[in-house]
Parts: sequence; C-alpha cells; structure tokens
Amino acid sequence: MLANGPGHPSPASGLQQAFDLVQVVKSTVGGRISAAPSVTRCSPARRSVSAMTPESHPQPLDLFPPGREAGLERLADFVPRSGRKYASQRNADPGPGRKDNVSQLSPYIRHRLVTEHEVVEQVLGEFAPSTAEKYIQEVLWRTYWKGWLQMRPQVWHDFLDERDRNREDVQANGGLSTAWNDAEAGRTGIACFDDWVEELRATGYLHNHARMWFASIWIFTLKLPWALGADFFLRHLVDADPASNTLSWRWVAGIQTRGKTYQARASNIAKYTDGRYDADTLGRQLANDAPPIRDEPPPERQPIAPADTVESGTRALVLLHGDDLRGFEALPHGLDVAGVVVAIGGHESAPWPFGDKARAFIMASAESAAEQVGEALDTPAILADAIDADVLAERARVIDAACIVTPDAPVGPIDDGLQALARALTGSGVHLKRVRRAWDANAWPHATKGFFPFKKKIPELFDQAGLT
Ligand SMILES: Cc1cc2nc3c(=O)[nH]c(=O)nc-3n(C[C@H](O)[C@H](O)[C@H](O)COP(=O)(O)OP(=O)(O)OC[C@H]3O[C@@H](n4cnc5c(N)ncnc54)[C@H](O)[C@@H]3O)c2cc1C
Repeated sequence: MLANGPGHPSPASGLQQAFDLVQVVKSTVGGRISAAPSVTRCSPARRSVSAMTPESHPQPLDLFPPGREAGLERLADFVPRSGRKYASQRNADPGPGRKDNVSQLSPYIRHRLVTEHEVVEQVLGEFAPSTAEKYIQEVLWRTYWKGWLQMRPQVWHDFLDERDRNREDVQANGGLSTAWNDAEAGRTGIACFDDWVEELRATGYLHNHARMWFASIWIFTLKLPWALGADFFLRHLVDADPASNTLSWRWVAGIQTRGKTYQARASNIAKYTDGRYDADTLGRQLANDAPPIRDEPPPERQPIAPADTVESGTRALVLLHGDDLRGFEALPHGLDVAGVVVAIGGHESAPWPFGDKARAFIMASAESAAEQVGEALDTPAILADAIDADVLAERARVIDAACIVTPDAPVGPIDDGLQALARALTGSGVHLKRVRRAWDANAWPHATKGFFPFKKKIPELFDQAGLT
C-alpha cells in the first residue's frame, strides 16, 4: 500500500537522475548540449520513493530505460515473440516484472523514439503478415486512435472540461472525495485493483488487459467518474497518451462505441492473472452489470487540416517535441537547417507531460534525441524545457531563420501548445510550419468509423509505406 494519495506528490523514481542528465534552457536560449552535466535545476526538491516502492516493482526508468537505443534493443529482443506466441499469450498479465508476453514498447512508440513503421518493418522481417497479424493490429490501434481523435478534436477538450468539473465535484462532495481518494491510494479492498494502483504508481505501466479491468472497475464497481480515472492514468503512465487513453476510457464507459461497454468479470481476471486472485471473492465484489454511463451521439467529424509545406532552400530553425522525438525524419528535402531546439515540455497554456514518471522518461530521452538530431542534421541541438515563443523567436533571429519547422503533433497538449506558439509568433516575422509524416497523412483519414473498417486499409497503408 502506498502512503501517498490523490493531491500528494506521486512516486517520482529516478527523477533527479534524469534532471541531472541534461542541460535545460529555461527563459533564454542557452548553449549547446554539453557532455559534462551543467545543470539548470527545474525540479522540485528531491523526492525519495524507495520507501514507498515495493521491491517487487521495477523503477520506471529501469523498466523503461530512456532513449531510442533502449527502445530499439527492446524491439529486437521482442521481435521473435511477436508472431503466434504474442497472439496466444498477450491477454495474460502474470504480474509485475513478468510481462515477456507483450512488448512493453509503448513509451518508445508513443514518443516516437521508435516509429510504428520501424516496428512493423522488423516484425515483417521475421514473420509473414498472417503470423504477426495480431501484433501488427495492436500497433495500428495507436495510429487509428490518433486519426479518430484528429477528426474530432473537441472530444479531447470536452474530456479536459469534464475532468475539471469532476475535480470540483470531488471538492464539494465528501462521499465522492473519500471514494476517489481510496481508489487513487489503492484502498478499495478489491485486491487486484489495489495491486494495479500500486503497480501503476510504482512503475508507470499496466498491461493492456489490466488497464481494461481497472477502468471497468473504476466506472462500474466503484462508480467513479470516468474522466477522473482517465486523468489518474495520464498522471502516472509513462506512455500517457491523449488519444489512446481518452478513447479507451470512453470505450470502456460505453461512450466511444455507443451503448457498448466493457465489463470486467471475476472469472476473466482470475483466468488471466496466473491464479493470483480468487474468482469467488472477486465475484462478490465486482458489479454484475455495466450499463453505458450515458447515451451520447457520436461527435461530428471534421476534415483533417492539411499539413504545411516548406519550400526547398528555406532557412529554418527545427523544433522537436515529445510527440515526435525523431521528427527530423519528416523534414522536407532541401531545408537549410540553421539550428535545432528539442523541447522537453509543452507550452505554458497546455502543461505537459502530465506526470513525473513520463517527464523523467521524456527528459532523459530528449537529451539523447538532441544528440541524434544534431548528428543527423549536422547542427548542434539545444534542449529547452518548454515550447516557449520568446525563446524560439529569439533563437530564430540569432540564426537568421524566418521559419520554425516542426513535426506535426496529433490532437493533445503539444498540438494546443503549437497552436499557441503560432499565435504568439504573429507579427514577429517568424512563421511556424508543421510538417506531417507520411505514416500519419496516409492513415489518419481512414479512421472515420470503427477499427474494423480501418483494419481493412492496413495492406494499402503498408503498400504506401513500402512495407510489402
Ligand atoms: C483504459 C486504457 C487506457 C490506455 N491508455 C494508454 C495510454 O495512455 N497510452 C498508451 O500508449 N496506450 C494506452 N492504452 C493502450 C494499451 O493498453 C497500451 O498501449 C499497451 O498496454 C502498452 O503495452 P505494450 O507496449 O506492452 O503493448 P503490446 O501488447 O506489446 O502492443 C504493442 C504496441 O501496440 C500499441 N497498442 C497495443 N494495444 C493498444 C491499444 N489498446 N490502444 C492503442 N495502442 C495499442 C502500443 O503502441 C503498444 O506498444 C490504454 C488502454 C486502455 C484499455
């Protein structure tokens, strides 16, 4: 059981270590990345979590060593298990530290330290498409959710509003407040749920099946608002992602697929958790029905805004961010790159990352990303702690660039931050250009309905990506 509950600092293992790794540009543009750690402190005081983290749980940065190299190593290690073995074993969650049946690649893919293209390419190098079908489909779920949300951006902003209203409700309602505190502290008395809370807080990760059971118990057994559950995940997951998280929680609650909910069943949990939980006890504790929390018409679909184009020869400052730390791969040919900034956080108007564990992972990953982009573009890269219009405009002026070019960000706080940046740059003589990866440009428009029509387009998408 953890000592800290909602409103208290979450376990922040490895945080200080990550802060010690990087030189962070704060209000002014600083120097180049230095091999010797010259540290601008941007963290609160050191928080020790060793006393709170059970020894059975790996620390987040041990479970997910930051940076692309670690992601590529994990991918190479997993590829031989991505065929039939994955298809037959992926639903099992044998417990913390025992998840060889899944890839645990999500933080790397989510921040594009490793791309979906690379994952699929390596898997298809080992197995026929039919053998690796299940794994490939899972990877494409992320692409699908992003495309779906891209055409309904209001769903993200509605979630944020609902979360804020729910937070006010919690303040005003003692019973709700106690239930919410108990759930976030893992004090519900439902053994599996309390264990998942502990695992999530300690490691920043939960297996997909555990995420589904967790969300279902949160909504239908504990009768807590879904948006607060989605917020709890965002604050603790290392792979915290606006599209995958919000839309998965909506799906469990019966809002995403109108009228269809996900019910966590005691027998299913007992079956897939290696005998750790007693089905009879769970059966007495879990809700025995899961009616949709509301009946809501599907949100209206909007056209996807076209990406920007940049003329060859344009002198540019390149901005990378946490939604695409390999985003230099999306830059148009012939760009005259005069400088590179890698932003660790979001814009002040849309704070991000959501939680300390994700921040620690992104911070350390951004440092190695900065080195890699610097080498790839033959231009030293600078780390900035946020997407800051003053810092970026000044840097652009210093290097005589009239254009900041950045990889596109899907709907979420980085996208909100880039929109705020574009507004702030108005009149400065510096323009923001957002360029989109072919993977996203080809796939997103197909996410019009459910995953199954989208799935039918996968062979066509792979043809376009040269993956067949
Ligand atoms: C309620 C809920 C909340 C979730 N929140 C997030 C989130 O914030 N961030 C996040 O990245 N994923 C989220 N997921 C999706 C999924 O649970 C994780 O991506 C997956 O568990 C990551 O573990 P893995 O890399 O071992 O997955 P594997 O089983 O090895 O799958 C391989 C890859 O496929 C993708 N993938 C697999 N399942 C899904 C899925 N259901 N949706 C989207 N992509 C998928 C991921 O990129 C994953 O790394 C959520 C799912 C649920 C049910």
